[in-house]
Amino acid sequence: MNVIHLQKAFAFIAKGLVEKEKLLKDAPNRYPYSRDLQRGINMFLAACLELGCVGENAFKYADESSFLSHYICKPICEWFNDWDKNVLQNIKIEEQPFYAYGPFAFKRGKTDLYTVTEECVEFLNTQESNIIEGTDEHALYEKIIQLSQEDYVKVRKYIIEHPVITIEDRRAFMSEYADNTIAKDALNLAYEQFEERYTICPACGWTMVEKDYGLSCVSEYCLEHLPVISVEAWKDASSEHVYRLKKGVMRYFAQPGKLEIDIARYCEKHALDYSLWPQKDRFDIEIRFSDGEVWEIDAKAYRNALSLCSKIKQDGGFPSGNYKYGFYVVPTEYTRNKNNYTAVVNKILTDQPNIKCVTLAVIKKKIKKKVGELNG
Ligand SMILES: [Zn+2]
Repeated sequence: MNVIHLQKAFAFIAKGLVEKEKLLKDAPNRYPYSRDLQRGINMFLAACLELGCVGENAFKYADESSFLSHYICKPICEWFNDWDKNVLQNIKIEEQPFYAYGPFAFKRGKTDLYTVTEECVEFLNTQESNIIEGTDEHALYEKIIQLSQEDYVKVRKYIIEHPVITIEDRRAFMSEYADNTIAKDALNLAYEQFEERYTICPACGWTMVEKDYGLSCVSEYCLEHLPVISVEAWKDASSEHVYRLKKGVMRYFAQPGKLEIDIARYCEKHALDYSLWPQKDRFDIEIRFSDGEVWEIDAKAYRNALSLCSKIKQDGGFPSGNYKYGFYVVPTEYTRNKNNYTAVVNKILTDQPNIKCVTLAVIKKKIKKKVGELNG
């Protein structure tokens, strides 16, 4: 047993928690049993016993509910409180990719249920493809990549700009792509029918619903700075046919997509020659300035800078190509109160000096400056 075993344990726990949440949503009255979660728990506890030398303590948390109530709402670093200190030093615990994450879930009010946190979902997203395959966003990417370049751009843009659609919208899309099975399949993979009482979330545009433990949306961050929602803003989807993006698609397809479209609009405003998703998913935006200089942009919506670092490493760095500069662009608000966010990411980019991580606000400034120089 070694630290790789521990990394896998965290991957399975994160995957299992997300799966459990989905099972509960699909069948609210059945116990959401996830084999991956149990596997992750067993692996973690085996590591506690064999690596961490925690003794009999490991057996106390072998069943799922005691494990969850003991560990799941604590930051990961605290999961190692009872481990042998020398062991922790030997396995360089602080450098492990899972160590700096916050809690993977929080308790829903007074119930025995948990809601998965953004930290957990981000961690899961940085895992190897054998772990994330089977997720909704992964299936969607695999599908749309089969479209022609032109349809790829159109379908991707549609999904990003329409988190919630009516049955008429859906019908219109299906008839526009009547002869295109791939596009129709993509729509079915991206959306699910939705029948609850909801309001459009002011933060993300998805369906915010009210549960007995409070309001709930795509992430706990939607509830920060929430304006007062008027009574009229609530709609009932059980009486009208509503489709919304699946949660994973909303999070990892539509959220970064908003950044991409925002940058594209900015390029349009400055009459720049650009393409959105050139070569499908190789880059997100390519800007071709009038002096021949090319910039490539990859938009990333990770709140935890370490998640972005893991993702970059997993992708093997910024894709190569004929560009002068490459930028990883993150939402400006994700770096608020975390003034070393881009510095953390840029630290792992030192072997690619023309690649930088910047915020949306900074990339716009850079584009504006470049345009200013060109226009003399
Ligand atoms: Zn939201």
